[in-house]
Amino acid sequence: MESDIKKIVSTLYGLRAEKITRLDGYDNENYRIGTSSGDFVLKIYPETYESAEILENENEILIGLAREQPGLYPVPQKTIEGKFLVRSGRKEKRLIRLLSFLEGTCLGDSEYTPGMLYSFGQTLAGLDRFLQSYNNSAIRARRSAWDLQYFHLNQKKLALIENPADRKLVEYFFLQTEEFAAPFFAELRKSTIHGDANEWNVLAANGRISGIIDFGDLCYTPLINELAIALAYASLFVREPVTDLLPLVRGYHEVLPLEEKELELLYYLIPLRLCISVCHSADARRTKPGNKYALISEKRAWKVLRRWIRLNPLDVEDKFRRGTGRSSRVRRKIEKDLDVRQRQTSRALALQFDRPIKMYGAAFQYMYDCSGRTFLDCYNNIPQVGHSHPRVVAAARRAMARLNTNTRYLSDYFEDYAENLLEKFPAPLSKIFFVNSGSAAADLAIRLAQTHTGREGIVVVEHGYHGNTRLGIEISHYKYNRQGGSGKTDQIIEAEIPDTYKGRYAGDPDAGRKHAADLAKTISTTDLPVAALIAEPIVGCGGQVPLADDYLKNVYSLISELGGVCISDEVQTGFGRLGKHFWGFEMHGVIPDMVILGKPMGNGHPLAAVVTTPEIARSFETGMEFFSSFGGNTVSCAVGRAVLEILDEEDLPANAAAVGGNLLNMLEELVEEFEACGDARGAGLFLGLELVKNKESKKPDTRLASVVQNNLRETGILIGTDGPAANVLKIKPPLCFSRTNAEELVAGIDRILRSR
Ligand code: PMP
Repeated sequence: MESDIKKIVSTLYGLRAEKITRLDGYDNENYRIGTSSGDFVLKIYPETYESAEILENENEILIGLAREQPGLYPVPQKTIEGKFLVRSGRKEKRLIRLLSFLEGTCLGDSEYTPGMLYSFGQTLAGLDRFLQSYNNSAIRARRSAWDLQYFHLNQKKLALIENPADRKLVEYFFLQTEEFAAPFFAELRKSTIHGDANEWNVLAANGRISGIIDFGDLCYTPLINELAIALAYASLFVREPVTDLLPLVRGYHEVLPLEEKELELLYYLIPLRLCISVCHSADARRTKPGNKYALISEKRAWKVLRRWIRLNPLDVEDKFRRGTGRSSRVRRKIEKDLDVRQRQTSRALALQFDRPIKMYGAAFQYMYDCSGRTFLDCYNNIPQVGHSHPRVVAAARRAMARLNTNTRYLSDYFEDYAENLLEKFPAPLSKIFFVNSGSAAADLAIRLAQTHTGREGIVVVEHGYHGNTRLGIEISHYKYNRQGGSGKTDQIIEAEIPDTYKGRYAGDPDAGRKHAADLAKTISTTDLPVAALIAEPIVGCGGQVPLADDYLKNVYSLISELGGVCISDEVQTGFGRLGKHFWGFEMHGVIPDMVILGKPMGNGHPLAAVVTTPEIARSFETGMEFFSSFGGNTVSCAVGRAVLEILDEEDLPANAAAVGGNLLNMLEELVEEFEACGDARGAGLFLGLELVKNKESKKPDTRLASVVQNNLRETGILIGTDGPAANVLKIKPPLCFSRTNAEELVAGIDRILRSR
């Protein structure tokens, strides 16, 4: 091989190669050739490499640059015959050219000081000013998967990313680009750009940039992509991906001023390049297992992507704006919004936190407000698989674009989803009715129960909540028995909550059975025939109170013996939130006659359902049609199906079990340590920490719960408070919540309790 190279160099260029070193390369062979008249790089391209025309163009650009900005770029060398590009080999299968070798250390092996980054920005902008005047149809026609405007060419590589938690990040940024950046590509100024200013293509010496090499990715694309690509690669080497990169942006802007829209889109374009890079790495692992060059930045890229998801897009834009001397556009005050809200609706529609938040966006377990802050969401059990999960969004969009219609027509959307969902239930739960809210599901479940049994009486659990409809309030002790409520109606029988922390039989291992026996007595004192019992497996609004062991077993038997039906309200506890058990009733070893579903079912899309037995469903066939305009529509079914698939693919119930188990242990340590922490409880990622005046009295400390909640909000962590005295910290984050997230939350609570 070496003799081959020597021969090429001598016959074509009349040079004697004294030393030959193979250099890394992506699609071609590169050799550093040491000669007595200096060093050169010999580049050999396979015939498949795009076209001789592109290489001719590249040479033309380098020749122009050598004239206008000498010393910074490789200079094409002529053959003895005076050609910059030659075909060689038998049947002319190879294209060959020789460039001058630039001395310098790769930026990747240098220190990323502010001065270095500033110089990088200036040099790159200088190059782009030259390239702006260059126009060539072959480069314009290029469609490379590395060109940010053609990011969608990488979609098919997504499947090669093995870890679903990683893959979803790429899918997320692709989707964000499609939605919020790509629509502007057509109106951005375009130019020929270098297109690959990565750490190995940029050379440095004495704290400054001394050269830029490898023009193999020249493309005609929105000009801002050049800077975005440089920033993407530089982000792999700095501590703070935005703040530390500002000198690069400033350096560029001073030579080639950036436009407002360009600055705005950097938030999307920077991670986009990293996403493209990890797609190629996934591909390269398969096709070129030995190619170190292709995999080299992969690990760093994942790290930055995981950090980027925590950045508020508004804040990133603001930093780039201010870094280039523009004014901030971020509005930090919400007084006006509060006024508008007050004008538009009632105070009954409450806002959360002493200082309410105006939200802008969200990604997985992070939420972004309009003032540029990012919050860790430990509070929202609706986006079960994470906020704005790209698969859910894509499923909704696709279905919406095809068919959005009601259940009066047959459709695969309904059939497929109902099939997938019903598979999650034990026999005989095999019939489903779709609605749009937990309230509508609870309402329908009660109607079904009353129709089936021909009775009226409903047994409800103390502090339970089941919905906001008239009937929903009637069966929700948490509502009718608190401020503004009008008390119990005649059809209601109340069951005391079998709370093992502060209930009547707290500490008694037989508490569940005893509470059930008490309920039997209560029922026997009324002459109301029981149609149904409705209960949550862990009472959520009541303060995350798990029902005592064996309570439901005994109560279900009791209700069945009395001829009533048992309804499990899984609106909060369902869909894997409890970790080990996909449904809360499984935790209690019972099978209900009816299950109501909501909240997480559509990951935020209004989707809810009642699942029941064939017998109960049959009783509803009275001749009156059951119709819900939106319940079970094709779009909702597509969304619901995506949620089930993601739960399975990302193994989120297992994550809830692992991270939740760990989090509960940490909360128990707080209980050990602080007098104010009375009890830590729950399962999976459905947890509660009860705050009390002291351990002895167990008296609720409502004020402290509010202090903790509001202080956490100030530090960027969102949790809820609940329970009849609002003294229980309620933790129920999206199931992609990580161990690190859990540690941040506990550290936050710890800090606040300690500083009292
Ligand atoms: N059941 C339970 C257990 C709930 O927590 C809720 C809502 N908090 C509902 C029913 C009512 O659901 P929705 O708000 O969707 O009407």
